[in-house]
Amino acid sequence: MDNALIDGASLKSCYRCGKCTSGCEVNRIDPSFQPHRLLQLIARGAVDELIDGDAIWKCTTCFTCAERCPQGIAVTDILWSLRALAFRSCRNSGLLEAQKAALFKTGRLYPVTGLDHKKREKAGLPPLAENATLISRIFDAAKAGG
Ligand code: SF4
Ligand code: SF4
Repeated sequence: MDNALIDGASLKSCYRCGKCTSGCEVNRIDPSFQPHRLLQLIARGAVDELIDGDAIWKCTTCFTCAERCPQGIAVTDILWSLRALAFRSCRNSGLLEAQKAALFKTGRLYPVTGLDHKKREKAGLPPLAENATLISRIFDAAKAGG
């Protein structure tokens, strides 16, 4: 492993309490996404498997896992490092491709759902438009600029 953030000491200090996973918003929506299991896979040397897969692209980088970790492990940074490794070695997952396509088309990584509207309404926020027009305009301007 050539990334300083994915260090053996951090991985060894994880005692698999699962606090990172139990606070993860993505895990609530997709129980198969379990940050503590991803750390275990790294510790077992399954980095190639991870950077070829979809899991590392599901993280929203909210840092909740890192804040909850009693061992002070930089879980989010470790997952981010795996993304960097995937980029550097030109590995693409199906999810990353889908996110890129959605970003160029709508300016968002994920489509806005009814659940998003409900959560925003509860928080007193206005509904989100399906397309993030400002971001789409930035992409259009970049294309026109050549
Ligand atoms: S919260 Fe920290 S110690 Fe607990 S499983 Fe997650 S990374 Fe390991
Ligand atoms: S940073 Fe990623 S893995 Fe950690 S809690 Fe947020 S979404 Fe989950």
